[in-house]
Amino acid sequence: MVKLVFYGGVNEIGGNKILLEDRKTRILFDFGQSFTFGADYFTDWLSPRSISGLKDHFEFGLLPKVRGLYAKEQLAFTDFPYMEPEIDAIFLSHAHFDHVAHICFVDPQIPVFLGVGTKLFLESMEETSSFCNYREHMYRTFRTGKKIKIDDVVVEPVHVDHSIPAAYGFVIHAAEGTVVYTGDLRMHGARKDLTEDFVERAKGCEPDALICEGTRMAPREKRKNYSESQVEQLSDEIVSSTDKMLFMTHYSRDMDRLRTFYNVAMKNDKEIVISPKTAYLLGKLIQDEHLDLPDPLEDEHVRVYYKRKKSGTYDDSDYYVWERQFMDKMVTCEFVHKNQGKLMMDLDFYQFAELIDIKPSRGCHFIHSMSEPFSEEDIKDTVLHNWLEHFGMQFHQLHASGHINKEQIGSLVTEIGAKKVFPVHTENAHLFKQINKNVLITKREKEYMI
Ligand SMILES: [Zn+2]
Repeated sequence: MVKLVFYGGVNEIGGNKILLEDRKTRILFDFGQSFTFGADYFTDWLSPRSISGLKDHFEFGLLPKVRGLYAKEQLAFTDFPYMEPEIDAIFLSHAHFDHVAHICFVDPQIPVFLGVGTKLFLESMEETSSFCNYREHMYRTFRTGKKIKIDDVVVEPVHVDHSIPAAYGFVIHAAEGTVVYTGDLRMHGARKDLTEDFVERAKGCEPDALICEGTRMAPREKRKNYSESQVEQLSDEIVSSTDKMLFMTHYSRDMDRLRTFYNVAMKNDKEIVISPKTAYLLGKLIQDEHLDLPDPLEDEHVRVYYKRKKSGTYDDSDYYVWERQFMDKMVTCEFVHKNQGKLMMDLDFYQFAELIDIKPSRGCHFIHSMSEPFSEEDIKDTVLHNWLEHFGMQFHQLHASGHINKEQIGSLVTEIGAKKVFPVHTENAHLFKQINKNVLITKREKEYMI
């Protein structure tokens, strides 16, 4: 019998931690942090102390006590004994925080399997962020088509479309059963064909179990969602009908969205202005020829915005070493102000203060290309609108979700046709019952035999 245990991603969005046990082989799929992680005990600057390793997490039961999983140093201040690894491998579906964040606690002797592109994302995040550290691991990269053998278990990663490149689902051929895990996926993105390939492969294996994401499984979809091509079309309509500048904000790792805005810039003969961090990430990702992204150093339509730092004179030494390589592509607030009609600019909410220096002319456009706020009393949303109003900017909400919708989940589950279906990455697992009779409501840390 194959055993499944869900240590995370149960009644929560993200934080997936799924253990598959086949005879003596134990493999974990994803090891992320949910979006509501620790919210009952930690808030703002009150957070688990990194010096304490896992002590603070164990105090509140925020991470599971799994034998032979964690690094010795992470257990040093806890009463949970260190053991040599009893987990044979960890597979990561994609580089989003809610699927990878907790690998920093894992024993470095356990191999971590991940997509070639996912590795590039993790490196980029560590190199450009002072608080991101996944620690040392034995990384092993894969691409679709590769079959990875862990004892008698063969894991087959298959690409899926999600709001980050290099996202995968897995078809797991255990000695005593076949299990399919979707990771996060969607059917309305730029690469729907990738998800279709995955569904096709999963269905062909006649799986015993399907572990399926359900982010958008909700009684009613309250927020407006477009497809990626609609986001492009509607953005193009805005840009082509104005001579004012466009600012946009989107998830920093959503390369489909960046490409969408890049396409709009091309069509309208504009240059796209990005941050040094995005330029650095692009510089990494172009190593993967499958991703079809602009080269920030070579592409003449890409400019890089440098904020004024330290000396205030844009001196090389003001910037981190990793930031300096794009200085030939530098634009400053003065340049942006003078060339507003020729530019589209990525501007993250936390960089809004740059608007004070850029001084955009009234009537500029702003596209919020992210999820709408969850509540009407969202403070950040209020502040964002105050800024837009102050600078006389026009607001547009245009976003395509990274996740498959409720109806499509129904079709996917039916098509794959597994004997048992386990919802994860959802707050509404019970709604899966309405779409399929083989659904089991997953309980945290309970053992399921398939
Ligand atoms: Zn996720």
